[in-house]
Amino acid sequence: MAVLSKSFEDWISWRSCNELVHPHSCRKAAFQNFFRFISSNSKYYLPLLLIHLGKHGFRSGAVDLDLLVESLWYYAQLVFGGVVEASLITWSICSLRNYLGKFHPSTLLFVPSALGGAFCAFFPKKVKHVQQTAIFQSVIENLMLLNHPLCRLLSTSVGLQAAIFMVCSAVILEGKQRKWYNGFWFLIPDPAPDKDTCDKKSCSHSESDCGLYIVRGIRNYLMYGLALDIFKALVSCTKSGQWDLKHFKLQSTAWLGCYVGIYRAVHCYLRRSPAIKDSLRHPLAGFLGGFSYLFYPKLTILSYALLEASRTLWAKRQGSEKKRYGYSDIIFPFAMAYLVQSYVMKEPTG
Ligand SMILES: [Zn+2]
Ligand SMILES: [Zn+2]
Repeated sequence: MAVLSKSFEDWISWRSCNELVHPHSCRKAAFQNFFRFISSNSKYYLPLLLIHLGKHGFRSGAVDLDLLVESLWYYAQLVFGGVVEASLITWSICSLRNYLGKFHPSTLLFVPSALGGAFCAFFPKKVKHVQQTAIFQSVIENLMLLNHPLCRLLSTSVGLQAAIFMVCSAVILEGKQRKWYNGFWFLIPDPAPDKDTCDKKSCSHSESDCGLYIVRGIRNYLMYGLALDIFKALVSCTKSGQWDLKHFKLQSTAWLGCYVGIYRAVHCYLRRSPAIKDSLRHPLAGFLGGFSYLFYPKLTILSYALLEASRTLWAKRQGSEKKRYGYSDIIFPFAMAYLVQSYVMKEPTG
């Protein structure tokens, strides 16, 4: 740390903004960055616009003018939020350098990123949720890749990752079924059984036959997975500029098909099993369904599962109390600052 601090003093702190951060003057850089951020954020959030349109259009059976306007407004808010945050960060870097007369280790990236991130608290709820999800999930993934024996064990052991994913899956599906928390999850849980009218040994799905219910689930989720794999292949081909079939992998298809298959089959079976307590049947089905992680073991999926499981447990603890601002608004600026600092300061590999 002392060596880092010394080299910072020797090589960085005395430099001017345009030697280290940008060419031209600070004002011209701010102007150019503003248009650069509009362009990059428009591209970054375009998949979300398409997913939003596809999801709501699929539900209602058509894409009408209202849905188009609502989706474009949501997209504009996302882009606006990203541009404001990025502009605030770069503007703070310049302002702090000019005000303090030199760069300090904390004012080069950490403090400006935290200032930019703090603005996120005032975004519309949906936009804030998207931004917080992206940053928190990346921070968790980043922490899992730290050079620490426990992190190394987790990042190299697919079995351990699958075990953690199975626990998260049980928590998230139970939380969604009991309506503790309603964030996005890859699987929609079975409806909760009606306590008063339903026979405790019958399933809660509308299909009269469990086999049909399971097969329908597998068919639908294979289609979702296939759509996701095609989308990922298109993004990968566009990024690399090589239109090749090697970009197309059926990992999401296999994972989602198995996830829903195991979950529904176990749940239907357990509904008729007298040996298992009522309250354990659904969490156990969610837990075993998580075994499908082995078909698509990705730290990005695991970190998202950890985030959603934490949010579910937090929402359960909060109960029905809904607040405009919460702890996540306080944590977010620091998470963002940590992420920006760790990406920029990352030692080059290879
Ligand atoms: Zn500057
Ligand atoms: Zn059933």
